[in-house]
Amino acid sequence: MARSVLVSGGCGFIGSHLIDRLLLRTDLEALVVVDNLWTGSRQNIAHSTDLRLSLEIQDVESFRSDQRFDEIIHLASPASPSWYMREPSRTIKANVGGALNLLTLLKPGGRFCFTSTSEVYGEPLISPQPESYTGSVDCTGPRSSYDESKRCTEALLFETQRVEGLDVRVVRLFNTYGPRTRTDDGRAISNFINQALTTGILTVYGDGSQSRSWGYVDDIVDALERFFWRDRISHRGPLNIGNDYEVPVLQIAKFVCSLVPGSSIEHHAPAPQDPTNRCPDLTLARRVLPGWEATTSYQDGIERTLQWFRKQIVAVDTNLP
Ligand code: UDP
Repeated sequence: MARSVLVSGGCGFIGSHLIDRLLLRTDLEALVVVDNLWTGSRQNIAHSTDLRLSLEIQDVESFRSDQRFDEIIHLASPASPSWYMREPSRTIKANVGGALNLLTLLKPGGRFCFTSTSEVYGEPLISPQPESYTGSVDCTGPRSSYDESKRCTEALLFETQRVEGLDVRVVRLFNTYGPRTRTDDGRAISNFINQALTTGILTVYGDGSQSRSWGYVDDIVDALERFFWRDRISHRGPLNIGNDYEVPVLQIAKFVCSLVPGSSIEHHAPAPQDPTNRCPDLTLARRVLPGWEATTSYQDGIERTLQWFRKQIVAVDTNLP
């Protein structure tokens, strides 16, 4: 049966990789991307000439359409702390307002997929974090617009499922990096690579002992593709998706420096309420997605990302007057 699919945030970093996978589907009739290009870029999907793909440059919370969709995948949101902290109310609108609006565009019986975040665990008091951990989020903290709007959207979707039987799929993504991140994204790996290639000075906040579990985008999108549409899975989530090998920020910065001769590390003040650790418990993911693993090492993933960033930075330089 021919399927119509809407992806909000499809011009973004993860969204655009997901678009590539969706366009491989033979049952796909139409793919509408809704994106206001706040953090996404038209360039991320420009390589596709597939006539089934169309782009609506609009805010997800106010997007209107007469069309109804069999599947909606809601990714529209900034994910970098520096971006969402600058515009908290816009972040909340994109996540919560976006989900409320998109629900009205779903066909009866359609499927609604949502990318939530490991940030719902806040400053985690247990490690690794299983999906059953209810978290430790400060609703008045500087990260709250993102954390709480992802939590609220999860609540909206699971409660709509409970009351109305909505077919939902929710993942909680841990730190993800790779090609198509903005050069000015500001998150650790992309910032370190960008800094190494430009100023040569990598800014580590605090002593760099805080750790994250860094997932390479191809591995993460493999899981999304299987969970959202490919493997006929009945489990609805929330499902942790990420790499469960935890690495301190300083180790990542040192590795980037080792790849770019002449670059060095500078320590800056710690970021406010910066979680000290973050690691997914993948027990459920391994059961729901048998055989799936985030297999790319941070060394390989960073080298690939560095190659992509080099091309972006060269392209910007050659465009200078
Ligand atoms: N970080 C850093 N320097 C940077 C960017 C980030 O030291 O230029 C640290 C940040 O303080 C955090 C970790 O790297 O401890 C991951 O930050 P990121 O913004 O990538 O994601 P988060 O997991 O905090 O949302």
